[in-house]
Amino acid sequence: MSLAHRLRRHRVFVGTCAAAVAVATVAAAGQTAVAAGQPELAHPAGLQGEQSKQPVATGTGGAVSSVDPDASRAGIAVLRRGGNAVDAAIATAATLGVTEPFVAGPGGGGFMVIYLAKQHRVVTIDGRETCPAACTKNLFVENGAPLEFEEARHSGLAVGVPGMVATWAQAVRRYGTKRFAQDLRPAIHRAQRGFIVDDTFVQETKESLADLQAFTSSRKLFLKHGQPLPVGTRLRNPDLARTYRQLARTGPSFLYDGPLAKAIAHTVQHPPVWKGTPLQVRPGIMTVKDLARYRAEEPAPTHVNYRGFDIYGMAPPSSGGSTTGEALNILSGYDMSGESRVLALHHYLESLRYSFADRNRYVGDQDYVDVPLHGLLDPDFAATRRCLITDRAATSPVAPGDPYRPYAGCSDRTAAASASADHEQSTNNIVTADKWGNVVAYTNTIEHFAGTGMTVPGYGFLLNNEMTDFDFAPASPDVPDVNLPAGGKIPRSSMNPTVVLRDGKPVFAVGSPGGATIITTVLQILINRIDFGMSMEKAIEAPRVGNFNTPTSFAEQAFLDSRAATRLEKEHGQKFSVVTGPTQLDKEIGAATAVELLPGHRFRADAEPVRRGGGSAMVVHQR
Ligand code: GLU
Repeated sequence: MSLAHRLRRHRVFVGTCAAAVAVATVAAAGQTAVAAGQPELAHPAGLQGEQSKQPVATGTGGAVSSVDPDASRAGIAVLRRGGNAVDAAIATAATLGVTEPFVAGPGGGGFMVIYLAKQHRVVTIDGRETCPAACTKNLFVENGAPLEFEEARHSGLAVGVPGMVATWAQAVRRYGTKRFAQDLRPAIHRAQRGFIVDDTFVQETKESLADLQAFTSSRKLFLKHGQPLPVGTRLRNPDLARTYRQLARTGPSFLYDGPLAKAIAHTVQHPPVWKGTPLQVRPGIMTVKDLARYRAEEPAPTHVNYRGFDIYGMAPPSSGGSTTGEALNILSGYDMSGESRVLALHHYLESLRYSFADRNRYVGDQDYVDVPLHGLLDPDFAATRRCLITDRAATSPVAPGDPYRPYAGCSDRTAAASASADHEQSTNNIVTADKWGNVVAYTNTIEHFAGTGMTVPGYGFLLNNEMTDFDFAPASPDVPDVNLPAGGKIPRSSMNPTVVLRDGKPVFAVGSPGGATIITTVLQILINRIDFGMSMEKAIEAPRVGNFNTPTSFAEQAFLDSRAATRLEKEHGQKFSVVTGPTQLDKEIGAATAVELLPGHRFRADAEPVRRGGGSAMVVHQR
């Protein structure tokens, strides 16, 4: 998908509490309801989740922040029953598979960063989808030409072997305190009982309506007469309840080595195409062997020290940790809190320009390409990038640097940076913390809204289109492309779950959806919080802006309306374009969640007040 397509132009929605709007709409529309195709009236009790949605919560006993109140509540319930932050993250994630099926669920993958209080260490789980063994670099090439993203995204070719359930099971087994089955319980209950469709759910449906319409199984579960379910509908998912029950009973082997493996491979190879669709749906190449081979990995986290804070993130195949880390290393050479806010924002945008040039050139799956991770995270290498920054915006694309020692002074290479960066909002981030001081940041996704649009018939969840995160063809003839498909390879991600420590103790954790804007969103929140001294609430709320090594930086309308934007243009030659699209979701960047650990064993959970209809922050004991 081209950058231009992903950065569609529009006005951004600000000012009104979208959560309140959603409640009002739900109440007004409460007369119509469908339960997986069967009409049913929405009971007022079903509105409970919407009504209790709040972006900030402070208290004790542990905390959960996610994009959805039913999911946050599931995490809190597990904490109440003595589960730890890992158990809570799994309960939240599995429930999101029910209530946010277009951005989460067993058909996807993700990355988890965990601070283990007892062991004083940070571990990560890479549960990202892998390309089936039969993948080649020409996975998305047809008649000598790369497919359009829009053609590829609803194909079987786009489906990667899902890593979600392997991550959940591994996290619970190695770092949780409960049994996997116990952590799945709230999600089973929610899938069985259903939830109330709100305005954001309808917008998400519209983002991928043609894809959902193209599959009989998805039409049955997520649409009514081929159209989005009306706001106020109670959506039950007994198929997913059954899937979760089976997983609870037999463990992840049900998906990787049992009946569900067969069903997934069959769906990928023989998509359940609705005969009326105008879309061409290409079958995929995943086999049951690919599923049986899947393993979640535990790479060492990335780490940089920024102004006394230890920032831990996700290593490749995600570019989240390395790109954020490099940008922070560049920024550590500036007095971000002392210099004018405009100059600091100029430095922020320039740091992104150079670190994205390096990300695009060097970061891919480490099992397939040599990623110079040490160099990318080395403050000495960052110094060679910082010294290219002037008071004027550089002309992008700037070339990548040379992150191999001895670093080549203040210079860059001549070849242009390869690869593009995307802008989707279709992921979710969960942050949990418990009374023992364990902290989890977990970003997971099925890639585009609704993934491929393909529901596994009878199992109640959508299959990802994560393989479209690969480059479909070499991005530049002169520079090797590290992100081409191959058998077993994992596409580069931007997911950026981040845990921050100070003096050996966790202080906060944060993450966001948003394709490559995940990196810019997390970085912006870090500097808002650490350098600009904003509260986490303000740091999340602030209008967003970023750069992917592109001539213009992308921004929300509210940022463009600020005096800072005008001054950045005038004084530093920065150029901006606004993010846009037909729905409200397209006009927003990210939907962040965070938890802070406060003195006195207190917690503060933060979620978006407005973006994505507002997120849900909760603590065990609110006070
Ligand atoms: N697939 C994207 C990635 O891994 C995330 C998609 C999104 O945030 O919407 O970077």
